[in-house]
This record gives sequence, C-alpha cells and structure tokens, in this order.
Amino acid sequence: MKRLVPALVLSLGALLPCLAWDNHSQISYMALGKEAWATRQVTAEPLEDFLLLEKAGLAALLGKLEAAAIRDIPAYPPCPPALLLKADASDEGIKEDFFHALRINPAMPMPLYVQLQAGASRDSRPELPVLAADPYDNHVPNGPFKSLRAGQSVSALEIVASASDEPDYGMDIGLFEDNKSPVAALYGFGKQAFGNPALPYGSQAPFHMALVHEDPLLRMAAPLTKVSLSDWRFRLYSGLSRYAFTAGHDYWGWRFAGWALHYAQDMGQPWHASLFPGRPAWSILGLFVAGSQDDRDRALVLLSNRHLLLEDYLYGAMEDWRGQDSASVLYEALQGKGAPKTVYRAGFLYDLVSWRAYKAGRGINAALVSTFPALYTSDPSYDYGVENTPARRSYDPWKALHSAQPELALGFDKLTAPLFAAVGAESRAYMAWADLHSGVEPLRRRPFDLRGLGYLAGLALLVLGIVLLVLRKTRQPRAGKR
Ligand SMILES: [Zn+2]
Repeated sequence: MKRLVPALVLSLGALLPCLAWDNHSQISYMALGKEAWATRQVTAEPLEDFLLLEKAGLAALLGKLEAAAIRDIPAYPPCPPALLLKADASDEGIKEDFFHALRINPAMPMPLYVQLQAGASRDSRPELPVLAADPYDNHVPNGPFKSLRAGQSVSALEIVASASDEPDYGMDIGLFEDNKSPVAALYGFGKQAFGNPALPYGSQAPFHMALVHEDPLLRMAAPLTKVSLSDWRFRLYSGLSRYAFTAGHDYWGWRFAGWALHYAQDMGQPWHASLFPGRPAWSILGLFVAGSQDDRDRALVLLSNRHLLLEDYLYGAMEDWRGQDSASVLYEALQGKGAPKTVYRAGFLYDLVSWRAYKAGRGINAALVSTFPALYTSDPSYDYGVENTPARRSYDPWKALHSAQPELALGFDKLTAPLFAAVGAESRAYMAWADLHSGVEPLRRRPFDLRGLGYLAGLALLVLGIVLLVLRKTRQPRAGKR
C-alpha cells in the first residue's frame, strides 16, 4: 500500500485539465428556465458596493463559515488568520481583501454581465469582451457576454445561469503552493493533491473534483481521495448567497448561488466524482502496485480521453440547441423528463450528487467504448486533450455521431439522458433551497454503502477460517499421541 500512494499521486498529477460540463450556463438555462423564481427581476449591484455596505456582516459570516469548515470538512486547510476579512478593512482594498478571504484568484474582474443562452435572439445590451469576465479565456468558446449597468434590471435566471459558469473562468486557478502564481505562497492550501500543478487549468482540479466515494481499499491507499475542497466552495458560496438575500442584496444572492451551483453540477459528472469510472478497485490497485510505468501512462491516457470525449460530446449537444426543447432526449432530460426525485438536504453535494454520478460512471464508460471509434476511447497512442483541442479540432463527437450514425447517437443519448436528468433535478433542488434563503438545512441522510462492511465481513471470515485451521492442526497430533 505504501508504494501505491506516491504512484497514484504522481500519476494523477498528470491528469489533464478538467472542465466538467461546458457550458454550465447553457445547462442552467435549460434546467432552470421554467422555475417560478427565474423571471424575477433584480437590480444589478457592483461587487464593491455590496462589500462596502456589508463589510462588518461579511467579516462575521466568513468567520463563522471558517469555524464550520475546520469542524466539518475532512482535511480542510484552515485559512491563514491574516487573510480573514476584518470588520474594519479599508474601503480602498475591500475587493482584494474579500478575494483573499475567499482564497480565490485575485485577478478575477467580476464585472456586471450576463452570458446569453446558445441560440438566443438578438439582444440590444452592449457586448462584453470575453476577457473582461473570463481572464482565463478557456479553450471552450463561451456564449456571447453582455454588459450590465449598475442599477439595471436583470432576471434571476440570467444571473444564476451566467454565474454557474464563472468558477471555470479562473477563480480556482493557481491557489496551491506548488502552482506558479502570486498567491501560491499566501493561501495556505499546501501542495496540490491531484491534477497537474504545472498547468494553469490543471491546478483547479481539487476544487472541481472529489473522489470521496472510492472503494474503501482505495481510500485507505490514497489520501488524495479525502481532499474535499468542492464541498468547501459549495458551502462557502451557499452561505454567502443566504447572507446576501437576507441583507437585501438579491443580485448577489443569486450570483453566489450560481457559483455554488457550479460545484454541484461538476459533482454530477462521473469523471469528476471517481478516480477511474468503470474500473474495479482491484484492477486499479493492481495497476499501481504491479503495473509498469508504461501501463499506468496508457491507462491514464484512456481515462483522460474518455473524460474529455464525454464532455466534448455533451458540450456539442448544448451548443446545438436552438430553442427546440424536444430536439434531443438530452434536452428533455435536463428539463425534467425522467428526473430522479431530488430534494436538497445537508450533505447534498457528496451524499446525493456525487454518489449518483459515481454509480453512473461504469455504465457511461461502457457506453463510450461501445459507441465511439476505438481511436478516441481505447487507443493509448491518441491523446484527445492534445490532438483534439478547440484550436486544432479534427473531431466533433456530437456532430460526427449524429450525422454519420443517427441511430447509434440516439442510443448513446438515451444512455446518458439519466445523467442529465439527475443534473437538471439537482440544479432545481439546490436553487429551490437557495431561494428559501434559509440557514436551516434538512437533515442529512447518508447513502447506503455496504462495501466497507463487506470487506470487514470478508476479513472476519478469513480470520475465522485461519483460526479453525489452526485449531484442527493443533488437535490432530494430540489424537495421534493417544
Ligand atoms: Zn468546474
């Protein structure tokens, strides 16, 4: 087991950038568009105005959230005391102080803006250049951004859908001490547990993935499965949202809720909720204990290829939407068809969302392999993340499958629809709770997981068998002596 830990950490360090769903805002527009709160009109409020008015209240709130994180979140790296927001922080530096207290990338501009839904009709609001909201300007094209004026009216849906994409614009990039960034030495996050610390986008992985449902044997062997920063972000932004609503700053209530929603949607992606979807624990352990470095490299390329292929395919689905809700079973699923019963409760992110995604991984992994050309799913000499970047894209999985093999495409869509049905239901459940503005969470209900008990029962049987054998052996010679 000791050998496995460094092997796992080193190899997972090579994981490629992870984006989960792209684009989150399109997913949110489709999943939430018919909610009662969606059309509510809200007044846009600049971040600095909100912070200056609420400085003292926010300082108290962030102090409480920090104490709760230390108490409740496993392996939580505490915020260095000097970074905690002070009630008497200076007005001039308030935005930077707030970003430092949240421990997010201080280069985020956070303008007032919305991202339009794909295929949206003409919109007279002024364009906002992508870099003005998304300094990372990630590889996946965003929908058009529109600028908002302070005091301008905007719908709650537009705020939430736009904000649900924002954590992928660089908020969580460069925060660990082994990243190259001005705050790497400041934030106290320690070394990056997984994801590639040398790649800017790889450095956000521990905030956007959580491997908390791995097999108990893997959890014992790999401490990285205990890293739980997604849940911290989710709780932090949920707390800020509640505070903003209660203090009468509805614009920020919705925007912070949209940030929290991002992490809930990420956790609904099986490749963000498990180490190797579809690969049994004994096989993963065997790979890292007995496999060669070449074996591990090949397995990691396949893991990454399937992860990216699924995201690329579903991104194509979202991009293709032109207002026809029934044009794909995926659109219908996101909007509620076949949605599993989902109600918000304490422990929502892991007990419910990522547990569902973890269990779905095996089936989706098999469907990817049986549906797409082997080059993209089963050939370790092809690296999807290198060969098929948006800049040099030669394969569009959504368009290619739907135009060349529509029946196969429909079959794959039907298999992945439950994943989207779950993400849609979870998004609606979280936002319904956020809209209550309540700090009291319904009671936690942990998922029913018998794997740990199964191992204990197996171990007990093994010990019992050994004891019986020993007893039998010790009795036999005595019988001979008589
Ligand atoms: Zn993300």
